[in-house]
Amino acid sequence: MQKTIIGSEKWQMHHMVGDGFRVTNLIPWYGQEMNNLTSPFLMLDYNAPWQLEPQKNGHRPWVGFHPHRGFETVTIVYSWEVEHRDTAGNGGTIGADEVQWMTAGSGLLHEEFMTSEFSRTGGIQHAVQLWVNLPKVHKMTEPRYQALTRESIPEVIFGGWTVRVIAGNLKLQNLDGIYEESSGNAETFSPVELYDLRFTKPGKIDFLIEDGYTTMLLVVEWSIEMKDQSYRHGELIHLSRSGSEISMESSGNAKVLVMAGKPIDEAIAHYGPFVMNTHSEIMQAFTDLNDGKMWKIPKNTL
Ligand code: MN
Repeated sequence: MQKTIIGSEKWQMHHMVGDGFRVTNLIPWYGQEMNNLTSPFLMLDYNAPWQLEPQKNGHRPWVGFHPHRGFETVTIVYSWEVEHRDTAGNGGTIGADEVQWMTAGSGLLHEEFMTSEFSRTGGIQHAVQLWVNLPKVHKMTEPRYQALTRESIPEVIFGGWTVRVIAGNLKLQNLDGIYEESSGNAETFSPVELYDLRFTKPGKIDFLIEDGYTTMLLVVEWSIEMKDQSYRHGELIHLSRSGSEISMESSGNAKVLVMAGKPIDEAIAHYGPFVMNTHSEIMQAFTDLNDGKMWKIPKNTL
């Protein structure tokens, strides 16, 4: 059975995160409070292609140290170079076609900034940041950092398209059934499917996403057609949880971020950078932050 299209969203407004990240917020859906409609995905900021001018005097655009607890931040980079470091002692640089999967878990502070080279030369920034919820039993897990480099993202290449499997298990099908499967390397705490799908010429693709999973498609380049409807760059398409088959076409070199996952059907308590299950857990997060408990390494080592 085909998944049906519930709706699509294209939000024109953008805002700055720090002084270097120009984003459009597409989840929560239509400016609602954070909710389970898109669970396990809590938040999506889309940084549509944007020209960063060469920076002067060694300035590096950045988002300064801020805390998180209770979920994961996943940054998918199409173009730019960004560095990260956090108070769990992790850090790294990711560039084009790479993904940073940070588990905030019990809590950390992190900062993100453009590399010196990218800041000096300027260039096109194009990226997505997703917040993925953690099941209640894993909210206080140890912080973790996974850098998914180009080499560690398996690619399935066919005549008309490439699918880069970041997380989950891609299942491609034709009239005879499933003909190809490929698994991503990201370790997740609940089932999550994340694919970077790229058409290399006009064509069609059919794949399966588990019945019951939240399923969304973000068009990050060109446009696609589904069920005789056209969806353009910047649109987030929300599909039904019921059904498993997805079919789409493109008349050009479209890029689509496919996001799907098993809904986490647990209460959400959200305040700023914390996502827990109850209000008292949010209060506890502030207490722990103020008590320095989100620092796993000595402050002078950062
Ligand atoms: Mn952050």
